[in-house]
Amino acid sequence: MEVIIAGGGIGGLAAALALARQGIRSQVFEKSDEFGEIGYGLQLGPNAHRMLTRLGIVKEVEQTAVFPNALVAIDALTDRELTRINTGEGFRKHFGAPYMVVHRRDLHGALLDACRGHSEIGLHTSKQLARFEETAGKVTAHFADGTNVSGSVLIGADGLSSCAREAIMGDGPPRVSGHVTYRGVVPVDEVKDKSHFDDMTIWIGPGLHLVQYRLRGGTVMNNVATFHSPKFYAGNKTDFGGPEELMQMYSPTTAHVRDLLSYIGKDKNWILCDREPRPDWTRGNVALLGDAAHPTLQYLAQGAVMAMEDSVVLAEQLAKPSVEIPAALKAYQEARYLRTARVQITSRIFGEIMHARGGARDLRNHLMSQRNPDHYREIDWLYRGI
Ligand SMILES: Cc1cc2nc3c(=O)[nH]c(=O)nc-3n(C[C@H](O)[C@H](O)[C@H](O)COP(=O)(O)OP(=O)(O)OC[C@H]3O[C@@H](n4cnc5c(N)ncnc54)[C@H](O)[C@@H]3O)c2cc1C
Repeated sequence: MEVIIAGGGIGGLAAALALARQGIRSQVFEKSDEFGEIGYGLQLGPNAHRMLTRLGIVKEVEQTAVFPNALVAIDALTDRELTRINTGEGFRKHFGAPYMVVHRRDLHGALLDACRGHSEIGLHTSKQLARFEETAGKVTAHFADGTNVSGSVLIGADGLSSCAREAIMGDGPPRVSGHVTYRGVVPVDEVKDKSHFDDMTIWIGPGLHLVQYRLRGGTVMNNVATFHSPKFYAGNKTDFGGPEELMQMYSPTTAHVRDLLSYIGKDKNWILCDREPRPDWTRGNVALLGDAAHPTLQYLAQGAVMAMEDSVVLAEQLAKPSVEIPAALKAYQEARYLRTARVQITSRIFGEIMHARGGARDLRNHLMSQRNPDHYREIDWLYRGI
């Protein structure tokens, strides 16, 4: 079996690695001229830790990871702590794995190094999947540079605006949420208030939230500010989310929260998108994986983790003896569909809770303040993983 993987992000590389560990050969085709990731943070719940173990790279990732003491929610209008989930000893024991935060490049780099160490994996850059065709159990992928390659399976791990998805599902561009994110990573010496250094902290307010946690052995601070764009909701769907809207939305927050905006870059933003869950991301010998299959808002911090879970399940299905490829791909999708759908839908709901206004905010604050920081029932389904 030779698997063609379109896309060399976290999902594509994790898929190649998971397949190689089952003895299955693959070729990864990445459209950019080098493999890489953006320079910001990723939260990895305990379900991710389990996948990293199964991918054989947990030690490498742990080397630079930070293990927060707690996930802390603070009201951005008052600076009052609302609740926390302790992620120390009790959490680790409960889930059998820790909560980690990592630099994206460290995770992607660990995946890439591991892929380079496997003779079953071929890695190719400047190869943009343009189209593909299937004939008699064979898939031929055509690239934008006019070249093509054939294999027995094609995995579309080509992200949010997936070319493979459009060919299989034809459902057009993703849903634009109207939520916008700005990010920034700064050396910890530049951070004035050190009171939240050991936690993953999230300040939540009306139509906004700001996340802060340290990366790379604690040497740098990752800051992520998200807000609902007023222009988008006023009907301007093409030109919205500029830095003036960021500052305007954060103007009611405390001086402390507004201070945190100084650690955020104002020259680039990310318009957040997702899609409705759908159970038809395989066709014949072609399947989607990661954001191509089930893009989600980042509010549960699980998009990359889901891509890694997908990879492990996909490889298990394709490695079964006397495998029928279309049936194995359907079994993969079936195993993943409702779990990823739950992440997509719950992420939206959690976003609404974090961004609540008025009476909804009062209720949220009341309910959050009653939580026991050492009870994990609400998050069992997610963090116990697969
Ligand atoms: C602000 C923000 C914060 C987030 N935080 C977290 C978090 O804390 N934890 C978490 O788990 N997730 C998080 N996510 C989600 C996570 O970033 C994504 O779910 C994850 O990166 C998806 O990986 P992927 O490999 O499926 O797609 P991508 O990362 O998009 O990779 C796709 C790759 O395919 C390539 N490509 C695209 N088109 C083609 C083509 N036609 N041919 C060949 N190659 C192609 C691209 O260049 C890219 O390298 C966050 C997302 C955002 C926006």
